[in-house]
Amino acid sequence: MRPYFEAQAALVARLLGEEDRLAHALLLAGAPGVGKGRTGLALAQGLLCETPLAKRTGGMACGDCPGCHWFEAGNHPDFRPVALLAKDGKLAWEISIDQVRELEEFAALSAFRDGARVVLVDPAETLSVPAANALLKMLEEPGGRTWFILVTHRPDSLPATVRSRCRLVPVPSPEAAEQQRWLVAEAGVPPGDAARLVAWSGGAPLHARHLADPSNLTAYRRLLEAIASLPETGSVAVADTVAAAGVEQWYPLLQRWVSDLARVSAGASPRFFADSAPRLAQLRQRSSLAGLARASASLQRQATLLRHPLNPRLLLESSLELYLDAFRNRT
Ligand SMILES: [Zn+2]
Repeated sequence: MRPYFEAQAALVARLLGEEDRLAHALLLAGAPGVGKGRTGLALAQGLLCETPLAKRTGGMACGDCPGCHWFEAGNHPDFRPVALLAKDGKLAWEISIDQVRELEEFAALSAFRDGARVVLVDPAETLSVPAANALLKMLEEPGGRTWFILVTHRPDSLPATVRSRCRLVPVPSPEAAEQQRWLVAEAGVPPGDAARLVAWSGGAPLHARHLADPSNLTAYRRLLEAIASLPETGSVAVADTVAAAGVEQWYPLLQRWVSDLARVSAGASPRFFADSAPRLAQLRQRSSLAGLARASASLQRQATLLRHPLNPRLLLESSLELYLDAFRNRT
């Protein structure tokens, strides 16, 4: 398994090249939707690969040894992925302490295949506080060839105690041109659509791939139209339309919309929604740049609370109101 993008593949090859002195707890951090999880998997497989590094091509896992076969079949006995569990079709909000406790036995055993053992926690920012504390104990005393790989787009939201135990490894984002090529090759996106999808996704190619699916794109357009219809359409009516989407969908979209409107107000071109330039130009006349900057900052601050909103509908309406304030008070 290779990372999706070249700079990430180079990163994995570099880390594997220093395996002898590689920190046993790694925190892979980067922007959302750029392939961090895949990068973590490629690193895990590279550590578990049983072909000597000198005999592998490109510094990655060989893909051909027993370890690689186990890994790619999803049942390597010395690999433990820890992720959000799905229940009744919905993902849990957090990684629970029980999931981390299950690792304790794994970490205490010796490797089945006499090589490395790897735990991959993704997304690490969803570790509950007790889960993070339980993990911390294991990070403090990793066995010989045991590695913990934590993957996150929000390293700051991890407890400082966990962060300080890990080597921070920034995962690079691919260039827009590589993202577009990847969308065409990987997701079968028509070349003419790739640039727009990359822009809409805010430079997150995995999100862009999601949007390439026609039904997802339709849902996305509906969201965008609803948000663009503010303030003529009131926040309650817009919230009715938007509520069906998860917060992880509408929130970044609202943030990008506010950001683009602020850019247009400041005389720049929209970064995400070039197609909506006429509408943004209209709204520019009616909003204040200072108000948009305030809304943008408030949305950014509030984003840290999104993981588990107590009242999703209230969060939605209040977020829309934050934006609408920029139309009310034009100072
Ligand atoms: Zn291998």
